[in-house]
Amino acid sequence: MEARAWLRGRIEDAGLTAHQDGAANLHARLGWDGSPSYMIGSHIDTVPSGGPLDGALGVLVGLECLRRLHELDLPLRHPLECVAFSDEEGRFGGLLGSQAIAGQLSPADLHKARDLEGVSLIDAMASRGLDAMAALDARRSAESLLAYLELHIEQGPVLEARAATIGVVEGITGLFKWEIRMIGTPNHAGTTPMDLRHDAFTGVVEFAAAIPRLLDENGSARSRATIGRVELQPGSANTVPGRAICSLDVRDPNPEVLANLAEAMRRSLSALARRHGLMFEFEILSEVEPVACDAGLIERIDRAAEALGHERMRLPSGAVHDAQVMAKLTRVGMIFVPSLQGMSHSAAEWTAWEDIEAGANVALRVLGELVG
Ligand SMILES: [Zn+2]
Repeated sequence: MEARAWLRGRIEDAGLTAHQDGAANLHARLGWDGSPSYMIGSHIDTVPSGGPLDGALGVLVGLECLRRLHELDLPLRHPLECVAFSDEEGRFGGLLGSQAIAGQLSPADLHKARDLEGVSLIDAMASRGLDAMAALDARRSAESLLAYLELHIEQGPVLEARAATIGVVEGITGLFKWEIRMIGTPNHAGTTPMDLRHDAFTGVVEFAAAIPRLLDENGSARSRATIGRVELQPGSANTVPGRAICSLDVRDPNPEVLANLAEAMRRSLSALARRHGLMFEFEILSEVEPVACDAGLIERIDRAAEALGHERMRLPSGAVHDAQVMAKLTRVGMIFVPSLQGMSHSAAEWTAWEDIEAGANVALRVLGELVG
């Protein structure tokens, strides 16, 4: 809330109009009301122990672009907005602000949204004098937007490794997240012979070992699969695990590849469970469709980077961004700047100032062409 108050002050100091919508997204506006606008933005929330740039850089670059265009006092063909989205990182589930604008929230979603401590979105917002149900009013029509642009740190090592300053994002990866439960028989670690046990962990271990092959055979060079959490039950050192519960996060920018991977993983799990006399079940925790960036915006970003003399490369985004949700509503484009050593969601997250300046100038040039 302090960051929002600060940002509102910066917007007003720049001579722009500030406006907070029902989802607590903070908007800055350059130009008149009532006709379709271009939008640039990102989010100002962050993860616990996160760095200073994830999200916030895109918002401040957006604001700086609006400020600069305002200073230049050029005639505008279209209004321009900068938005700071609420809860992108997901204290209450994630992408709340952009989902509200894209009309993807229902009253039931708002009622059931809780953080890990069990605090409801409704109570958290009420404690700040805000009505969570008003998030439904933040919805925008597709006709009210011409396109959405987002500058973000790459959050990965590719641009740095290729010595590129500007990443021209071609699309944003889709993903599915499962919780997998292998169920065997808990038994005594000493008295149960190796060939007579139904060790639930064996199923998970063999599945984890099969992942590179499953990706080679069914995925693409851009596929990623991660088991980030494993829990064994009963969880005692002298008991054969009766249950192994693990997470699975699988990503790819192509929806067909993603569907093939889901099918291959389900089959592999089923075969492993059969081989070891286990039961297996999985629950789909989330599914996000891949999104292609707009070909016209990709081209503009590429040309702007070239004109400014920056090394650039096209790449997919492996992380989820507000742009993915905004793509339901309008054309989207994304600019990446390099992350030092690929670090993000960490206090070590950083981008060289020259790269930040380069990215901001590319954004300014693209917006200038669109609205100027
Ligand atoms: Zn972010």
